[in-house]
Amino acid sequence: METMIEYVHNRIKRKDYQIAIDFTMGNGHDTLFLSKVAKQVYSFDIQQEALNNTKKLIEDTDNVNLILASHENFDCYVKNFDVGIFNFGYLPNGDHQITTMADSSLQAIKKAVEYLNRKGELFLVVYIGHDEGKKESLLIEEYVASLDHISYNVALFKMMNKLSAPYVIQIEKRQLY
Ligand code: SAM
Repeated sequence: METMIEYVHNRIKRKDYQIAIDFTMGNGHDTLFLSKVAKQVYSFDIQQEALNNTKKLIEDTDNVNLILASHENFDCYVKNFDVGIFNFGYLPNGDHQITTMADSSLQAIKKAVEYLNRKGELFLVVYIGHDEGKKESLLIEEYVASLDHISYNVALFKMMNKLSAPYVIQIEKRQLY
């Protein structure tokens, strides 16, 4: 079976997009992937280390904007978008104390849902293996389950026999006729 992030990439790969947002840049793997399927990519992180690592990874691309800012402020840089990834948690091989926080993550997701274009897709990779992640997952689940089903499809991809494994929530903004 593919990993959670491979699952996300494989779903995104099925289409081409204008604007993509990587809400949690980290080491840049999702940013690099998005640069191949979208015309323009905006990528956010609060750590300079993430920008430095990502800059090295994407040196051959010319459609990526790396931004040192917290993701709930993404709308200061880009508004409407077609595809986005939140890959929560901390920087692998970095400081594990610097992690996404439940309240600001929720704020960012709410804004992202508002600015997502119709037919656009948002993917949330949620980690519950640490305390802040557990809190984050509860807040996120409560919010996404409340989204109006006329405007949004919300789906879950989860290991059923490994309860602490990361899982994926996919949100699609439906085209209304
Ligand atoms: N997408 C990354 C990749 O492909 O390598 C992995 C992301 S990593 C699991 C999570 C990242 O979120 C960390 O680099 C962390 O610094 C970042 N982060 C934490 N809080 C953030 C916030 N408020 N806004 C943006 N990024 C944040």
